[in-house]
Amino acid sequence: MAKVPPMLEGGRLVAGFLRARARGRPFILSHLVTGRCNARCPTCMWRMEDVAGGGLEAQTAGELDTTAVEELYRQAARAGLVQLVVWGGEPTLRRDLPRLLWGAKEAGLLVTLISNGHLLGRRWPELRGSVDTLILSVDDLGEAHDQMRGIPGLFARLEMLVGRLAEDPLKPRLLLNTVLSAANPGALERVAPLAKRWGAGLYFCPMETGQMQSEGFDGRMADLALPADELRRAAAGALRLKAAGYPLLSTERYLRLLERDPELTRYTCRVPRAILTIEADGSVRHCLRRDRPLASYEQIAGGAGLEAFYRSPRYREMAREAESCTACNNPDVVETSWLWDLRPAMLRKVLALASL
Ligand code: SF4
Repeated sequence: MAKVPPMLEGGRLVAGFLRARARGRPFILSHLVTGRCNARCPTCMWRMEDVAGGGLEAQTAGELDTTAVEELYRQAARAGLVQLVVWGGEPTLRRDLPRLLWGAKEAGLLVTLISNGHLLGRRWPELRGSVDTLILSVDDLGEAHDQMRGIPGLFARLEMLVGRLAEDPLKPRLLLNTVLSAANPGALERVAPLAKRWGAGLYFCPMETGQMQSEGFDGRMADLALPADELRRAAAGALRLKAAGYPLLSTERYLRLLERDPELTRYTCRVPRAILTIEADGSVRHCLRRDRPLASYEQIAGGAGLEAFYRSPRYREMAREAESCTACNNPDVVETSWLWDLRPAMLRKVLALASL
């Protein structure tokens, strides 16, 4: 399959977003395709500890099987979602990942894969062409990164992978994501030159303070979240790096807001309107009550499907509640909310991202 020219892809994304927005429907499907992971990041709130196997499997207990995921992606595309973001856990642990991603592409979704990259070199021959955007998690350089992720030799593997992708005519758009926490102080200054050298865009996320307030989350890693003065310093540093030409993807507006108000209390969250988040078992996540999903897989994939779900009182209530919630401080949440509000700078950012 030939690679879609970047501007065409950007145009498709913006057109799809505007169509979904006009109907008041989400445009991103965020799918935690597995809870299993081969890494041991101290900042992770998503890994399912009880099924922490590191080997390739189609799916394990509690995860949707291949056919159910394929059906989910088909229904999502029919319901007007435009972009699929596949993460976990570590998605490359699913043996059926190539089939799932090719199915998503055939259904018409633009595919973003988030991975720690450990198995990607081995799995790339099956995946190449099915991924539009690849987001690699990079929290530091060299051994510091390996230690953070708990995988010896991981950084060297990433270097090899990126070298190989650079030669590939079907290479995806490459982005790096750095989680900022007390475990990697000053990491942005180290990762930004790497992103530039690899020709990648760079995202960063302060460790998810929003989810720590979620019912069902025990707060065991709350001490790793950066305090306000560190967040302020990180935002000021990111602004300097951006001005110096490093490929920081957060908007200046977000960075200035984070610098002024690290608790980020001055935005209106539209995430439940813009993003449909599906857990590994196929249930729809309620962002503040992870232990009380909004709907089961059977409710969204059977019968009247997503349209009935969007009309359901619980979904509508969460979308309304979100507008007075500012628990999250990461750029995904804030900038996606601004995109939903049709801020021109965000539409420009989507197009600029597509041209990377
Ligand atoms: S800020 Fe938005 S995404 Fe974050 S927990 Fe609140 S409603 Fe959910």
